[in-house]
Amino acid sequence: MSSDSQPTGPSTETADAAETESALDTARRQLTRAAEHVEIDPNVVERLAHPNAVHEVSIPLERDDGTVEVFTGYRAQHDSVRGPYKGGLRFHPGVTHDECVGLSMWMTWKSAVLDLPFGGAKGGIVVDPKNLSADENERLTRRFAQEIRDVIGPTRDIPAPDMGTDAQTMAWIMDAYSMQQSETTPGVVTGKPPVVGGSYGREEAPGRSVAIVTREVCTHYDRSLSGTTVAIQGFGSVGANAARLLDDWGATVVAVSDVNGAIHDPTGLDVHAIPTHEEEPEAVTAGVDDVLPNADLLELDVDVLIPAAVGNVLTEANADNVRADIVVEGANGPTTTAADEIFEKRGIPVVPDILANAGGVTVSYFEWLQDINRRAWSLEKVNEELEAEMLAAFEDVRTAVDERDATWRDAAYIVALRRLAEAQEARGLWP
Ligand code: GLU
Repeated sequence: MSSDSQPTGPSTETADAAETESALDTARRQLTRAAEHVEIDPNVVERLAHPNAVHEVSIPLERDDGTVEVFTGYRAQHDSVRGPYKGGLRFHPGVTHDECVGLSMWMTWKSAVLDLPFGGAKGGIVVDPKNLSADENERLTRRFAQEIRDVIGPTRDIPAPDMGTDAQTMAWIMDAYSMQQSETTPGVVTGKPPVVGGSYGREEAPGRSVAIVTREVCTHYDRSLSGTTVAIQGFGSVGANAARLLDDWGATVVAVSDVNGAIHDPTGLDVHAIPTHEEEPEAVTAGVDDVLPNADLLELDVDVLIPAAVGNVLTEANADNVRADIVVEGANGPTTTAADEIFEKRGIPVVPDILANAGGVTVSYFEWLQDINRRAWSLEKVNEELEAEMLAAFEDVRTAVDERDATWRDAAYIVALRRLAEAQEARGLWP
């Protein structure tokens, strides 16, 4: 499965329905705050505070028992000044209009921080995929693809996996789109299986980028990975891949978790021996007696904390209790605005999602290039290029941190907003 998260259990991507602050609230507050730190035309900020379009569709599904149920789907298209809209599709009961808009804004910043020629989008269906049979999931996906076919396309808007969707979902969308187009169009989605134009390394890419950024930020603060302890919330594709790479590179991963709780060993866990959520759901805690509550993992005395499960887990209520020296965001939106302010006061750097987990969309870009050129890259080439893109983006953000004495999040926004503003100014406002 090539999802950036899991269809069941803890998401390695973003917020769920239980959050206290909507993704849109957080995204708008972050934009307003960052805009104060950068000399940016307020007219540019005004445009970026609103999505260009939000498409809402009804998706009738014939259930296996012959009854018809109608589901709601969305595709929020935030900004395309730098290129086609880009971002994931999530199938989750907590999907809302506002959540899609907030997440689409984060995709715009993420693409811009990595300097990719994409804008930002996000969408999904309000559905719990655990309650669908495989056939129902396929029918729902294909009909959704049909309902949004006029607004997506390889030069228009390119969906990808997110919570509750995976490589198979993308293959069905590609097929439904291609059948109506009368030509095979692999570039309409990314995160596909490699056999139909997916890229090697795409599934591991968000976790790989989290590991690269963790390594680089440790170096920035004069820490060597070999003496560094790490706690990671979530063991889906982001958390597990980050854990395994950091372990390979010499860090000591002392805690990981699944939806049922966390396991902790101060001497280090054998993270290669623990199945990922995709390999075996909820395997982290299976058969373990002393399971810690997930909330306790966030407060462990470690060097680096990586929340890589759901959104809004670091809040006003627990930010004062976090004992990590550095936070690296693996999930989208794990830190509320109030928690961010507490971390800033406490001098705890928070490396934001829009930089740390941007390996996903970066390898999506590589996949899109491979699809256009009809030529696959080797895994080695993908990982080499990803490393180079991540180092360049890290350097851009690090420079803004130093020059502005800004937080890592504000610095990432500064980098993104500058690029977006320059593009808006060059293109102008029509009519
Ligand atoms: N869903 C992923 C994210 O939140 C990737 C989106 C993409 O590859 O387009 O970054």
